[in-house]
Formats: sequence, structure tokens, C-alpha cells
Amino acid sequence: MNVDHGSSVVPAGGSRNYRFDGALLGVSSSRRPGGQRWVEFALYKSDGGTYILARVGHSLLFHEPDCEVVARNDLRIGPAPVGGVPCELCLPALDASAVYPEMPRYWAAMFTDPGSVIRALERDGESGRYVTNVAAKPVEAAAVRDKAIADAWMSVRID
Ligand SMILES: [Zn+2]
Repeated sequence: MNVDHGSSVVPAGGSRNYRFDGALLGVSSSRRPGGQRWVEFALYKSDGGTYILARVGHSLLFHEPDCEVVARNDLRIGPAPVGGVPCELCLPALDASAVYPEMPRYWAAMFTDPGSVIRALERDGESGRYVTNVAAKPVEAAAVRDKAIADAWMSVRID
């Protein structure tokens, strides 16, 4: 029994969750000391052979009700987060009991093909497609344990 194997519930955004038995193949975080926003990735493989890629965007920022970020992201009123950081645009009071905190942003997707996992992590840059370091890390970890991911990751076919 692997310590990273078990039952998982992964938020997929909105009201959806993915539930499965499987293995956690790799994780990463872009969090830095003093950072206000960061992302975390996790890559799983279900016992049935489906890959589940999850991304969570975290934030410590909170806002006044009339801040443009509140409207843009449809934020709801709530308690200031522990260790919360006041927005530099709207400068909310640090002792406010109710503010508009930025909430975690969840995304997840499932894939039967390992190449699709990697394509989902790629971004368009000025000089072509690329994978950020934080997105590459869980795949590098997964490649040690999963030959199909290793093959898709380490041998990139260019047309
Ligand atoms: Zn603000």
C-alpha cells in the first residue's frame, strides 16, 4: 500500500467535485514568503487509469465593497482571511469584521491520455508553447512513478 494512495475528493470548480480512489503522483506550489497570490497543482491517477489534474489559485487579498476587483471577480462578503493582506487599490480597514476576501479558485480536469495532461499544462508564450516551472513539477514527480506520463513528458514530438 502506497502512502499516496487513497480516496480523494477534488474540487473541479463551481459546485463540481471529482471523487475517486487512486494515487497522488505529484504536487507543486508557487507560494513564496510574503506572496499574496499563488497556485498549487496536483496530479492524480485513478485506479481505473484516468489522470486527474487539479489547479487551485490561492489569494490572501481582501477588498472594500466598491473595489473594481470585487466586481470583476464577483466576490462575496465574508470575514477577513487569517493572515489576510489589504488590497493596495481600495485600502480596506485592517480591523473590518466583514470585507470581500478573494476565495480559492478551483479547476480540475480528467484525461485518459497522458499527452493531454501535458498539453493542458502548456501556455502560449511570445516564442511558442511552454510549461511553467510550477506546472512542470508535478509532472516531473509523476514521471518517476508512471511510465506513460514519463514517455509523454520526456519525448516531445515537434512537427
Ligand atoms: Zn481592492
